[in-house]
Amino acid sequence: MTINDYKFAGKKAIVRVDFNVPLNENGVITDDTRIRGALPTLKHILEEGGALIIMSHMGKPKGKVVAKYSLKQIVDAVSAALGTPVQFAEDCAKAAEQAAALKAGEVLLLENLRYYPEEEGKPVGIDKEDPAYEEAKKAMKASQKEFAKTLASYADCYVNDAFGTAHRKHASTAVIADYFDADNKMLGYLMEKEVEAVDNILKNIKRPFTAIMGGSKVSTKIGIIENLMDKVDNLILCGGMTYTFAKANGGEIGKSICENDKLELALDIVAQAKAKGVNLVLATDCVAADDFCNEANTQVCPSNAIPEGWEGVDAGPESRKAFAAAIEGAKTILWNGPAGVFEFDNFAAGSKAIAEAIATATDNGAYSLIGGGDSVACVNKFGMADRVSYISTGGGALLEAIEGKVLPGVAAIKG
Ligand code: AMP
Repeated sequence: MTINDYKFAGKKAIVRVDFNVPLNENGVITDDTRIRGALPTLKHILEEGGALIIMSHMGKPKGKVVAKYSLKQIVDAVSAALGTPVQFAEDCAKAAEQAAALKAGEVLLLENLRYYPEEEGKPVGIDKEDPAYEEAKKAMKASQKEFAKTLASYADCYVNDAFGTAHRKHASTAVIADYFDADNKMLGYLMEKEVEAVDNILKNIKRPFTAIMGGSKVSTKIGIIENLMDKVDNLILCGGMTYTFAKANGGEIGKSICENDKLELALDIVAQAKAKGVNLVLATDCVAADDFCNEANTQVCPSNAIPEGWEGVDAGPESRKAFAAAIEGAKTILWNGPAGVFEFDNFAAGSKAIAEAIATATDNGAYSLIGGGDSVACVNKFGMADRVSYISTGGGALLEAIEGKVLPGVAAIKG
């Protein structure tokens, strides 16, 4: 079923959203992006004459009631965003009466799902090494099903719009879907957009396809790099991982960040790219600094000839040109991870060059997807957020999807 086709009139919809918003010490929301992200779905259901039961997690209360993670703190903000009063259920697993009393157009927000360990489904208070762990895990899985069934009993249909947790097989993100037939469960608009964005770079690829992977380490990106290797025309590997590649090829990298146990892996990636005809673009020059701070002294030098006591902190001018050249002619672009320590303004030029080239390519008709916290922070920092095709809201979920993994939250609905 799709959200556009479902007839919500007179129905109760239980909607999993990601309202895990950051709060300051006074419980005031400091960034409401996630609430705004879910509004199209929530408003659509209300406008169509449905009643809403909204559920979410907040923070990591680890299966216990922890006041600072109470969703009660955001009731007023959600009411204001929806333009209608929001009722609150103090206990998400004991909300049957409140749910039953809801009329069309009314909204009930459930308390933090993660106050119950059943939400995540992991046994608490028992070590993985404990011989009784497997039994405890089995028992927890059974009570997770009961918990999901209780949540499901509140509503006629289930909508999942929480892309940020779509890579988790939790009670509210996946298990609950078993209690609705295919005609009564669907993805929300945000989830639909995210799934489409991933399809655009993994399935409906317009060529040439350029992927830019940056960040600090190669080890955390290897799954994605390997999956992309079969799909891309150009692969730019930048950021801190540059120096693992430079060292693997016999270069001098000073005190640059380096994963010494990944040198073989780096050489293997270079060989794979060659074998698959992928144009691998690595930074040939870098901005090196004598300290890890914005005011450090800097010099431009080859990425494989960095003086003792200096570290590569950004892509150099020659590399920026090479990156831009591989991006500007592309028709599909994926960017995850900065090209340098962009948090320091003096080391942001490489990431800025990438953001600018992506914006230019997008102006010329390319599809560009930006995902993963730091590259999103980059496009925001450089004021280019509205010049790219799509900025993903999902960190881990997006990365797993790009690795080619099936997301439990999507599979539970789409099969
Ligand atoms: P990741 O979480 O792996 O995507 O890495 C993002 C982080 O990598 C950012 O905080 C950057 O500051 C950092 N980073 C990028 N380039 C470098 C570099 N050359 N040296 C150290 N850290 C870097």
